[in-house]
Amino acid sequence: MYHQLKIDITQLSLLLLNYYIFKIVHIVCKYSFVSKGLLDMGFKGLLDEGECKMQSLILTADGLQLADTPMPPLMPGDVRIEVRSVGICGTDLAIWKGDFEVELPLVLGHEFAGVIHESSDPDIEPGTLVTCDIDISCGRCWYCRSGARQNCANKEILGITRDGGLSEYVCVPADIIHPLPYGVSTSDATFAEPLASSIKTHQQAPADDDEPIVILGSGKLALLLAQVYDANGADVHIVGRNRWQLGLAKQLGFQHTYDTIENDWKSDILKITHGVGPRIVVEATGNTDGISMALDVVRNGGIVAMKSIHGHQFSINPSTIVARELTLYGASRGPFDQAINMLSKGRIEVKKLITKEFKLEDGNKAFEFASQPSVTKVIVNI
Ligand SMILES: [Zn+2]
Ligand SMILES: [Zn+2]
Repeated sequence: MYHQLKIDITQLSLLLLNYYIFKIVHIVCKYSFVSKGLLDMGFKGLLDEGECKMQSLILTADGLQLADTPMPPLMPGDVRIEVRSVGICGTDLAIWKGDFEVELPLVLGHEFAGVIHESSDPDIEPGTLVTCDIDISCGRCWYCRSGARQNCANKEILGITRDGGLSEYVCVPADIIHPLPYGVSTSDATFAEPLASSIKTHQQAPADDDEPIVILGSGKLALLLAQVYDANGADVHIVGRNRWQLGLAKQLGFQHTYDTIENDWKSDILKITHGVGPRIVVEATGNTDGISMALDVVRNGGIVAMKSIHGHQFSINPSTIVARELTLYGASRGPFDQAINMLSKGRIEVKKLITKEFKLEDGNKAFEFASQPSVTKVIVNI
C-alpha cells in the first residue's frame, strides 16, 4: 500500500514537473516569438519556434486556417494523442457552414484516432493506437453521479465546445480512451463514434428478425445504421435521393433501395408493410425534409428514430404524435466498446464508405469536397 502510494506520488511529481516545464517554455515563448495572427484569432495559447509547436486546422470567422499552435501540456489524468486520422462528419460541415453555432476559434474534429504520445496513466502506454469518446463529462453533476455521464449537464464536447482532433496532438482524459484491437486501423476507428451512436439507435428501437424497417438517407450515418440493423436480423429498406450513394448501398449488399427522385417510394414501402407503413423508421437524411417523410410513412403506434444534426428548426404538430401514439427517439452517443468490437470482427464495412482522404494542410479542400452531395466520408490524415 505504502509502496503503491510512493509510486503514485512520484508519478504525480513528474507530471507536475512536466507541466511546469511546459508553462515556463510557454512564458519564454510569449515574450520571444508572439504570433500576432493567431492572437488576433483569439487564441489564448502562445507560440514559440521551438519544440512546443504543432499544426492545427482552426475554424475562425474567416474560415479554416492552418496555423502553428502550442502543443497541449499533459495534465495529471490525461493522455496526449498524436492524431493520425480524423473523419469529417455532417456536424463538422454544419459548424463549418455556420448552420450550427459554436464559439470560435475552434479546432474541429470529434471522430479521430491516433497513437498515445505521452500518458499519465500507467495502464495506457505510449505507442498504443486509440480512439476516444467525444464527451468529457464533469463527474460532479446529478447525471454523472447517477451513472448517466452521457447526459452530463456540464459536459465539454471535443471538436464542438473544446478543441478537437484536427491537430497534430490533442490531450484528453485517460478515462475516455479506447485502445484499438489488432486489425482496426486509425482510419477504421474514425467510424467508432457514428457506429456507436447507430448501435444506440438499434438498442432504443430494436427490430424483430426479418422485420422490414426503413432508413431515410443514404449518407455515411445511414449506411452504418443500415449495417447495424442488418447485422441484427432486420429487413432493411434504404430510401435516399442520391443515386451514387444508393449504388454504394447495393454494393454493401442492400437490395432494397428506393430513389425518391425516380420512384414512388412511399407506395413501394406501404406494399411491403400491409399498407400501414413500417413500425420503425430511422431518419438520417441530414435535413428537415426527412422528419416529414418519416412521420408520413411510419405506422400508427410506430417509432421514429432521429439521427440528423443540422442546426435547422422544424415545426411539428404535437397532436399528430399524441393522436397517432408515435414514439420519437434521439440518439447521438453510444457504446464505443461495442462499436470497436464490431469493427474488429469485420461485421461492419467501413473502407467502402471512404470517398477520399486528404492531408491536414489541405483541410479547406477536404471540407469543400466533403460538402458535395455524393460524398460519403472524408478522412483527414495527419
Ligand atoms: Zn460526427
Ligand atoms: Zn456531469
